[in-house]
Amino acid sequence: MANPQEKRAQAASAVASCSATDCSYNENRECHAGEIRVEIGGQGAVCATYNPTKPKARP
Ligand code: SF4
Repeated sequence: MANPQEKRAQAASAVASCSATDCSYNENRECHAGEIRVEIGGQGAVCATYNPTKPKARP
């Protein structure tokens, strides 16, 4: 039986899935930021680490 006092091994990221596909940390809907900061805004919890990629220049 597992010890409930025992800490879980740290995962690479606590974010299971993220739909902000325009964020530079997002790869295939997975967060690769290492750690994120969450803030409470007018619309609820938002990721404060969100870093949108710049739109690509048109050829
Ligand atoms: S930093 Fe925030 S917005 Fe960007 S992929 Fe991670 S969880 Fe999503």
